[in-house]
Amino acid sequence: MPIQVTVCDGIFLVTIDNPPVNALSQAEREGLIAAVNAARVAQAEAMVLVGANGTFIAGADVREFGLPPAPPHLPEVVNSIEGAPFPIVAAIDGQALGGGLEIALGCHFRIATAKAKLGLPEVTLGLVPGAGGTQLLPRLVAPQLAANLISGGKPWSAAEAIEAGLIDSIAQGDLVAEAVELARQVRGTVPEERRLSSRTPEATPDLIAALDKLEKATRRRARGAEAPVIAVGLVRTALTTSFEEGAALERETFLRLRASKQAAALRHIFFAERAAAKAPTDVADGQAREIASVGIVGAGTMGTGIAMSVADAGLPVIIVELSGEALQRGLERICQGYENSVARGRLNAEEAAARVGRIAGSTDYADLANCDLVIEAAFESIDVKHDIFARLTAVVKPGALLASNTSYLDLDEIAERSGRPADVVGLHYFSPANVMRLLEVVRGRHSSADALVTALAFAKRTKKVPVVAGVCNGFIGNRMLKAYVREAGLLVAEGATPVQVDEALVRFGMAMGPFAVADLSGIDIAYKARKSMSPGSYEPLAVALHDALVEAGHLGQKTGSGFYVYEPHGQNYAPNPILNSMIERIRNAAGIVPRAVADVEIVDRCMFALANEGGFILDEGIAARPGDIDVVYVNGYGFPRHRGGPMFYAQQYGLKAVRSRMAEFAEGRFGQWWTLSGFWAENASRVLEPS
Ligand code: NAD
Repeated sequence: MPIQVTVCDGIFLVTIDNPPVNALSQAEREGLIAAVNAARVAQAEAMVLVGANGTFIAGADVREFGLPPAPPHLPEVVNSIEGAPFPIVAAIDGQALGGGLEIALGCHFRIATAKAKLGLPEVTLGLVPGAGGTQLLPRLVAPQLAANLISGGKPWSAAEAIEAGLIDSIAQGDLVAEAVELARQVRGTVPEERRLSSRTPEATPDLIAALDKLEKATRRRARGAEAPVIAVGLVRTALTTSFEEGAALERETFLRLRASKQAAALRHIFFAERAAAKAPTDVADGQAREIASVGIVGAGTMGTGIAMSVADAGLPVIIVELSGEALQRGLERICQGYENSVARGRLNAEEAAARVGRIAGSTDYADLANCDLVIEAAFESIDVKHDIFARLTAVVKPGALLASNTSYLDLDEIAERSGRPADVVGLHYFSPANVMRLLEVVRGRHSSADALVTALAFAKRTKKVPVVAGVCNGFIGNRMLKAYVREAGLLVAEGATPVQVDEALVRFGMAMGPFAVADLSGIDIAYKARKSMSPGSYEPLAVALHDALVEAGHLGQKTGSGFYVYEPHGQNYAPNPILNSMIERIRNAAGIVPRAVADVEIVDRCMFALANEGGFILDEGIAARPGDIDVVYVNGYGFPRHRGGPMFYAQQYGLKAVRSRMAEFAEGRFGQWWTLSGFWAENASRVLEPS
């Protein structure tokens, strides 16, 4: 039974038990109303609501996502709890999220354990709370705090919750015993001010102005996601209308958003992330090996970031470098990184010291002998990688997992020459590796089932979002990026400006435009990489401007100028004035008469270039599902989550419409790059899962 009731001395103890997290499905909603009604009939003196399984209620049941809501609806549950004639105490351990927190808000008293998390994360699924959360919370805590909690989607700790006034107390010992004791003290009738819906919130002009300001800031941050902005507006409504009107508007908004494209996209990416983290079916019988210590080769940009991500997860790390100086530089960068986190208040000094303490350094490969996993993050050169893997094979204990962080090199070749091909995988991190959540887990031709499931378990342990990718140049993400950057470059050659392209894509929701990204990572990196590429493998006109900039010494932010010029140490930047003459020269040499390029063409060409390359990646089996590609783009490339990723975006655009757009581009001046992938030509309607 999902709802269990025991009665002791007039106090009803109601336990919600729906493993693993007591999600609210139809049976729980019905059971809770029935429990309150039974207690009414029995003339209960008080009630305690508690969750089994070490948690309160972690929100709606994911199995009901996207389905029509089945009665009784959550607002009825919250109303029935709030309207009970006897006091109800919410006893919160673990998580009280979404509908779980709304139920707690319907209760008249709230007590939580110190490790409890309380929040309304609906916006992360493109929704707003739908059972009074936006109306009840600002009647309990300061409205700006309520608006922040709801629009940010990130839960509060118990300490934050008590400071804000969301809970009455933190349990010092046994939660249920203390909740029952509280229920005994307050037994009898419910003080009216404990029914939040009956409170009249303060609505001063200053408060309204503060919420207006927060709404504007939220809109800027949301990059086109609508739910966080609407959530702030609903909190403001709570201050200006009656509870009934506010709750009706909230419910109507919730139901409208539930059916929106953004909510469908966010549900898609939620499920896609879960699917991507599971082992592919053909290796499901693989056994994960224990990873108790990690070695890293190379203390550069990536090696230091990876070391921090591993230490953050509580594992000891040892980094091996070429020289004492290089090692020292790397270790200093790590200390600096943690000091910055402490200065920003993200980490306390004690925790930072513990993490630094888990990271050791050496210049001797023999010190890697006992590591369960070694991640190579040295220079991007096949000879360097061969040399390192040969040394690793010589010293590291048998059965250890050996991983390379290579971006473009052939993992199969590295594995074959290593002498232990079955134990080799790619672990392709993104920079900064301790911050970015994406991890491409590269499955080589020889990687064993055990090696792959060990890598996936390690990703989970270090809180990464893993996606399994096959071996090809650039794996999933960087391979697609090439197509995207190509279209951005060609649009400029044809008549757009880098600023116009960047702005159109940022308006679409990308975190940054492709030219600003090139400036950030250094335009010279891809320039150097092109030197070793075969001439037919890329479109020279798409990168002619990049080449001209590099050759004139404008390498991006690190030299103070690239596509943009940057103020020293400042935030401001402006288009590089040198661009106009460079672009003109390139167009003249190619015989291009510039034309006006509409923003919609910029977005469609860049997005469908991604989707088409994603199609080839699926054709070749490099990615298993369209959703895997979406997970890569949303978590590693600044793609707006509320659009679900490039494959989902194209699906929402419509298969016929996408095909006809791609056919138009194939007729264009650079149509040779628009060969349709088999996925979009044949399979898309069958393979893309409807959401
Ligand atoms: P980096 O130049 O910052 O660091 C490389 C480090 O490896 C240097 O400190 C060097 O001294 C050390 N090193 C070289 N050979 C070594 C050896 N034989 N033994 C021990 N140490 C050795 O480079 P990076 O940007 O950190 O890139 C490292 C790897 O990660 C490359 O394969 C790169 O393609 C890949 N990668 C980089 C990024 C990125 O954004 N920088 C992202 C993903 C993957």
